[in-house]
Amino acid sequence: MIESPRDDVAFVCKIASQLYDRGWMPGTAGNISILQSDKSAFAVTASGRDKGELVESDVVIASVEDGAAVEGAHAPSAESAIHAAIYRCTSAKAVIHVHSPYATALSCRSDQGITTVDIAEYELSKGLGHLESSLVPTFPNWPDVSRIATDLAGYFSGLPQSPPPAMLIRRHGVTVWADTLRQAKNRLECIEGIAQLELLTGTASHVQISI
Ligand SMILES: [Zn+2]
Repeated sequence: MIESPRDDVAFVCKIASQLYDRGWMPGTAGNISILQSDKSAFAVTASGRDKGELVESDVVIASVEDGAAVEGAHAPSAESAIHAAIYRCTSAKAVIHVHSPYATALSCRSDQGITTVDIAEYELSKGLGHLESSLVPTFPNWPDVSRIATDLAGYFSGLPQSPPPAMLIRRHGVTVWADTLRQAKNRLECIEGIAQLELLTGTASHVQISI
């Protein structure tokens, strides 16, 4: 039996409900996960569930290796492969992915390939912790989600500095990570706020990179 602390699961459901109420998880969009203490698996919201009405059985266990189901009554989110890649590539212990409007709109300014937005000028960037790099990447929204995870892992492996704890997926949404789920939620609010400012001030500009 793989560990699945009930407090963690209840907290995932609570945060999902809050983000759903904000309109950041419309329909069944978005997913939330918490890394388990042995770091081999993570608890993640199941695929296709209404995030405003999650119950404990809607949180399942997936492998850090590839995001595949390990345990649970339902299939894990289709985007679990991205969560798994983040857990493999960073020291994250919690990940949130949503379709919040401003971050998603900012991702639409990215035209092709992998691009970055520099968030260094924003006071809100301090809410993301100490940043070695202030370049938030945007990745193509491949229909095969595992390809997004592969892009992310390749990008991270080639970086000289740790990336900020956030990424965008073009015309899709935003993903953030942190040491705790509460901290991830705070960081998500900061990224959404920065994206709003980028769009309001008209300064939103992506720089294309090659890896
Ligand atoms: Zn999504």
